[in-house]
Amino acid sequence: MNYDVIIIGAGPGGIFAAYELMQLKPSLKVAVFEAGNELSKRRCPIDGEKIKSCIGCKSCSIMSGFGGAGAFSDGKYNITNDFGGTLYEYIGKKQALDLMYYIDDINLRYGGEGTKLYTTAGSRFKTTCIQHDLHLLDASVRHLGTDINYIVLENLYAYLKEKVGFFFNTPVRTVALEDDGYRVICDNGEFTCKDCIISVGRSGSKWMENVCKALDITTNSNRVDIGVRVELPAEVFAHITDELYESKIMYRTEKYGDRVRTFCMNPKGAVVTENTNGIITVNGHSYEDPAKQTNNTNFALLVAKHFSEPFKDSNGYGESIARLSNMLGGGVIVQRFGDLIRGQRSNHKRIEEAFITPTLNATPGDLSLVLPKRILDGIIEMLYALDKVAPGTANDDTLLYGVEVKFYNMEVEVDENLETKHKGLYIIGDGSGITHSLSHASASGVYVARNIAR
Ligand SMILES: Cc1cc2nc3c(=O)[nH]c(=O)nc-3n(C[C@H](O)[C@H](O)[C@H](O)COP(=O)(O)OP(=O)(O)OC[C@H]3O[C@@H](n4cnc5c(N)ncnc54)[C@H](O)[C@@H]3O)c2cc1C
Repeated sequence: MNYDVIIIGAGPGGIFAAYELMQLKPSLKVAVFEAGNELSKRRCPIDGEKIKSCIGCKSCSIMSGFGGAGAFSDGKYNITNDFGGTLYEYIGKKQALDLMYYIDDINLRYGGEGTKLYTTAGSRFKTTCIQHDLHLLDASVRHLGTDINYIVLENLYAYLKEKVGFFFNTPVRTVALEDDGYRVICDNGEFTCKDCIISVGRSGSKWMENVCKALDITTNSNRVDIGVRVELPAEVFAHITDELYESKIMYRTEKYGDRVRTFCMNPKGAVVTENTNGIITVNGHSYEDPAKQTNNTNFALLVAKHFSEPFKDSNGYGESIARLSNMLGGGVIVQRFGDLIRGQRSNHKRIEEAFITPTLNATPGDLSLVLPKRILDGIIEMLYALDKVAPGTANDDTLLYGVEVKFYNMEVEVDENLETKHKGLYIIGDGSGITHSLSHASASGVYVARNIAR
């Protein structure tokens, strides 16, 4: 029941913290508490036939369990300080990048060998973008793919389970301060530790908020990104995705000066639904295995919305918009770009007649009834801007799925060690609001592990 270190959450942040602790100090007694299942038991019951929509499992297999939210993701590890989080503000740009390369090396050794590392360095596409008022962000991206990402996680688990105590299906209810450490309280018992690393990700955001309130840790929240997922024939973006795989392109709208950006690009991928606390939104992924690839490429177009005083519930705002699409479409809505521009809803006939086959079975509808005008105007402007560097983007048949929402956890007050005002209590990964990606979350885990080992 007594540990040197307790890690709460077995997503990339928690996994890499455990990994690094075992590398540096194998004598430490470490336990990992995870609300979800071990990897091999993670299965979403939606099969598209008997079970078509979310049945609200006690713990969502897509978001929870060994591997965290990233387990069935596209496994894109972006090595950059330009996006994916603001870890560099705490630990410095060089150290943040070094840690991301360190993670990349581990991923390669644990099953990712042979996967491709793409880079924007020296790309002529950057110049083409600037000539059209678009801005390509710098990054190297390791694309593991959903299949290889899973293998890497399997191998990491095989290594860790011999050295670390794993408690699955064990959500931590409370963390309490002790004289010389922390008491971690679960339904089946209480455990103590000297150092505690909290890495509960997006799915643990509400819980994290309560812990911060109870332990008097300051938090801040004022951002949400809202938009659509765009799907088009893979050929339209092939000249970009073949060279860069994923390109993060920023645009500032002429009308309002809002920032719109591409996000999570999936060449020859599939559009999928995502369930966050019962709200259905859209996402996308792709496989490394050519046999599982499709003829389409998808990516998100997101508009960042920052709120100022007195409004504080930015995630609630995003949820309300997503709920509206769920109310009208019973889930995700799909609309042809041509229909949106002409002010008409898409219907099954128009979708079937299009020169593209949707990879997600969504409800044809009208996104202008869901998205606020300012956000929709920004998305339309960006589609026309992208059409200049990837002709065919603003085609009538381009499919727009809505809504895609990128929720941000509230930002937790930690110091340059990612330590809270309580000595030995660290908050890392997406749950801290500091990271929003696999590579940054993983890097934050290694970083605190090194500090603890020291
Ligand atoms: C469909 C999808 C695709 C994605 N694709 C990419 C991608 O290609 N590239 C990229 O960089 N990012 C991607 N992301 C984002 C990426 O998965 C996250 O940024 C990353 O997983 C964050 O890691 P984390 O360890 O901070 O949190 P998480 O991965 O969310 O892990 C947190 C873990 O903590 C557990 N937990 C929560 N509360 C408790 C509690 N009270 N007690 C015990 N355990 C708890 C959860 O069950 C979960 O397993 C994707 C996300 C999704 C959902």
